[in-house]
Amino acid sequence: MYIKTIDFAKYSSIKIGQPTEVLMIEKGDTIPNDRYLIGGANNLLISPTPPPLMMLSKDFAYIKEEGDMLEIGAAMLTGRIVSYARKHHIAGFEFCAKLPGTMGGMLFMNAGVKEYEIFNILHSIKIEGEWIKKEAIPHGYRFANLGGIATAARFEIHRGFSQERLDRLLSLRSNQPHDPSAGSAFKNPSGDAAGRLIEAVGLKGFRKGDMAWSEVHANFLVNLGKGSFEEAKYLIDLAQEKIYKAYDIHLVTEIRIL
Ligand SMILES: Cc1cc2nc3c(=O)[nH]c(=O)nc-3n(C[C@H](O)[C@H](O)[C@H](O)COP(=O)(O)OP(=O)(O)OC[C@H]3O[C@@H](n4cnc5c(N)ncnc54)[C@H](O)[C@@H]3O)c2cc1C
Repeated sequence: MYIKTIDFAKYSSIKIGQPTEVLMIEKGDTIPNDRYLIGGANNLLISPTPPPLMMLSKDFAYIKEEGDMLEIGAAMLTGRIVSYARKHHIAGFEFCAKLPGTMGGMLFMNAGVKEYEIFNILHSIKIEGEWIKKEAIPHGYRFANLGGIATAARFEIHRGFSQERLDRLLSLRSNQPHDPSAGSAFKNPSGDAAGRLIEAVGLKGFRKGDMAWSEVHANFLVNLGKGSFEEAKYLIDLAQEKIYKAYDIHLVTEIRIL
């Protein structure tokens, strides 16, 4: 293992944070249990005082075929997974296009688009050295209780990459803002949409400093320039408070605040 300084104002998708020392885990290392693991930082909001951080090194960024199984390391980027699936005619990973992050981040969040979720196609996850079948892992909408650090995942190989499905899913993304964000800020409460609620309490487009609830899609907290952690946190708290007062609904953040 070794230390790397990562500037989260550049690295994180929402472009907030500061240069921070991150412990890089290499193959064979014992994974410490007193540090918070990050992936591609596409779903994170880093405060000025984050907990000690760690990250899987490129040793965990691999894809290999073993018989009828595809094994993907947890540090592998989603974009590269889609390219691999296209090149090798493998079905099921089309929805990962434009879903920024790593395999590990997808597993932790049970990331997905519409009816496609990573757990639908998953076979098993290697968690701290042990392969665990997905049936043994509690999971649901944007949630999976991994119980530890995932270092790899296995998928049954089904041939037939669908460019048509990929194009259809990409077109769904056209209603997403292009400004830096961390994806959806809140999980949708059951039977409703967080974006609709944010709009209903008058916060769509509402700005604090350089952070705003997007005009394009209200559930995206966007950075319009030099947005800060404090501005982002202010808007998150404000939306939660207003929606709770108006509808008695407590919105849960999808973004991890560190
Ligand atoms: C523009 C944009 C659009 C997005 N659209 C969607 C969408 O449509 N659907 C969707 O589901 N998400 C969406 N997201 C969110 C994001 O793409 C996913 O949550 C993605 O899975 C995050 O991966 P990451 O590697 O960046 O994880 P990070 O943001 O770095 O971490 C997220 C969480 O995963 C945990 N984690 C990371 N790696 C591991 C591991 N190896 N083992 C255990 N835990 C781990 C971290 O501890 C953290 O709690 C979007 C984000 C952006 C910026």
